[in-house]
Amino acid sequence: MKAELICVGTELLLGDIINTNAAFIARNLAALGIDHIYEAVVGDNRERLLCQLEITKQRADIIILCGGLGPTQDDLTRETVAEHLNKKLIYNENVYKHIEEYFRKIKRQLTENSKKQAYVIEGAKVLMNEWGTAPGLICEAENKTYILLPGPPMELEPMFEKYVLPYLKEKSGNVILSKTIKIMGIGEAQAEEMILHLINSKNPTIAPYAKNGEVHFRITAKAKTEEEARGLIEPVYNKLKEIFGINIYAEDDETLEEVVAKLLLEKNLKIAVAESCTGGLVTAQLINYPGISKVLLEGVVTYSNDAKKSRLNVSEETLKLHGAVSYQTAIEMAEGVAKTAKADVGISTTGIAGPSGGTSKKPVGLVYLGVYIKGYKTFKELRFTGDRQKIRERAAKELLNFLRM
Ligand code: ATP
Ligand code: MG
Repeated sequence: MKAELICVGTELLLGDIINTNAAFIARNLAALGIDHIYEAVVGDNRERLLCQLEITKQRADIIILCGGLGPTQDDLTRETVAEHLNKKLIYNENVYKHIEEYFRKIKRQLTENSKKQAYVIEGAKVLMNEWGTAPGLICEAENKTYILLPGPPMELEPMFEKYVLPYLKEKSGNVILSKTIKIMGIGEAQAEEMILHLINSKNPTIAPYAKNGEVHFRITAKAKTEEEARGLIEPVYNKLKEIFGINIYAEDDETLEEVVAKLLLEKNLKIAVAESCTGGLVTAQLINYPGISKVLLEGVVTYSNDAKKSRLNVSEETLKLHGAVSYQTAIEMAEGVAKTAKADVGISTTGIAGPSGGTSKKPVGLVYLGVYIKGYKTFKELRFTGDRQKIRERAAKELLNFLRM
């Protein structure tokens, strides 16, 4: 089954708004295992929309249209699709009542042009719009399915989930299942190379996705039953686990901070954080996890040398000899924060986030991570590229991952 999307709206062609509906629908079609083959954007123009419908009809089984269902003069999707299909627009009492009710609820006068939204394409299934006024429509004609949805994402997204998703699920007759593994510590190119023999697999497919120091692989299987889909995913999933091992930090919706927080809670290890270049990002990430209060004692941002000395007992000598951005300082910071907070674990960051290196001769992007666990001390040296924000985010992530490993 092949689907195409037509987004209607001159504002899209002018670049006034970003076409988030296209991204939303594309993601959903992919998850449904429906081939999404073309996307078009057409202005609020009858002739051009008719022309686009003619083209789309040649290729797709499912034609999704979004936008242009509203009450104003320029909204002409409903009328134009009716014309394309040679069908009439028919007044629908239920829709009219719904529009009346909607206006009453928001305490606004029902306008004359709003009534036009009560006209639906003959024979179409009407999708009541609880989030606005214009109903959606599903129209089956000439062996094709036309799905019309309102433009505002606040209406389109819930309507898609409530009506279109179950409709398409049934129509496609497929079960789509996917599993995602998330990796850190291996670059995208290298990760792909490691699974080159698997990446061309058709069912399940393996899709890589790389983002700021992480690589995700999504394994997606299409089958007639859930069990069958699971059976297709399983062997590939096991192979990836074998290949990437400890570098897999999480699966599916799990986050890095969640994994680290669970480990700390499980082992009942109290933790304290000392941050320089990350300025609180590491602590903030840990705090994303509800329940972390049982183990997280404190997070301090010690940006100046004086603060590193007075709050964390980093020695004058270390700072003089090796500088604030050094593994020696990172380790002393981690040990210092653990001891002053009476924690089992202390972790730290110190680095040069850029854009300039200040008075230091060390390169921008150089970051040291320190870890102290009940007397055991270790560190990691990293070199990042990118802007200040990216370097800080990467450093925070890498520290949590370093602790996990
Ligand atoms: P309305 O009843 O609000 O007029 P409509 O179905 O006629 O709804 P449009 O007039 O095409 O939809 O668009 C209304 C608003 O919805 C736009 O101003 C824009 O903010 C948003 N919108 C429309 N299309 C998209 C899109 N593809 N992606 C994101 N937002 C969109
Ligand atoms: Mg409109």
